[in-house]
Amino acid sequence: MKRTCRIASWIFSINLFFLLAGSLHSAAASAKEDVAAAPIIVIDAGHTKSHPGALGVKGIYELEYNDNLVTKLVKPLADAGMKVILTKQPDQEISLEKRAEIANSNQANLFLSIHHDSAQPVYLEQTKFGNLAAYKTKQPIAGFSIFISGKNPQFKKSEEFAELLGEELLKLGRKPALHHAENIAGENRPLLNERLGIYQFDDLIVLKKTTVPAVLLEVGVIVDEADEKYVSDKDNQQRIVDAISNAIQRFNSTK
Ligand SMILES: [Zn+2]
Repeated sequence: MKRTCRIASWIFSINLFFLLAGSLHSAAASAKEDVAAAPIIVIDAGHTKSHPGALGVKGIYELEYNDNLVTKLVKPLADAGMKVILTKQPDQEISLEKRAEIANSNQANLFLSIHHDSAQPVYLEQTKFGNLAAYKTKQPIAGFSIFISGKNPQFKKSEEFAELLGEELLKLGRKPALHHAENIAGENRPLLNERLGIYQFDDLIVLKKTTVPAVLLEVGVIVDEADEKYVSDKDNQQRIVDAISNAIQRFNSTK
């Protein structure tokens, strides 16, 4: 009897061991799945100090607008359950190829490059803002533009996100800028979707070197007085951040 009891208790212990080990294993597996399930979003602030991009109407380079908006994007995306990876810190120099490589090596679900726009020299005049040299448009050129590359292997998924992004920006009352489609030197970009401001720009390095869905957003035109005022307003920046975050969340939920 005693012996049977001991055997029974061994069997019970062994069962308990496997039961516990099994549940621990499945807990570890589901934690791992949760981490693995978090969409990986690579956000890229365009330009660096050595190539600061467009010079705006207030004498501030595009780089500053890009870094500022990207910094604001991190928390809402992380709060929405995404793993956010930035290609660079504000003071960091980085090549265009390296930006794409970061998205590729992390197997990102999405690469989004943030820029602020200018216009061709024919539409610009030199001006001053205080002591600073600046440029401004001779006529209003305003709004957002979205670019995708036909050389990106995930063109369709890139277009899908571009459409969601355009829709969310339209909801803010923003309009697409259509100047990149003009038949002048430096432009002539095929306009894929006029309503949503989506252009095809095959040879943008960060879009064609990425192997994951990739989109470049020109948030607004900083050489245009009214548009620069819009994008430099803190409340508007929050609205833009929310619009981008909504678009990414909608993209993550489509499979
Ligand atoms: Zn730029």
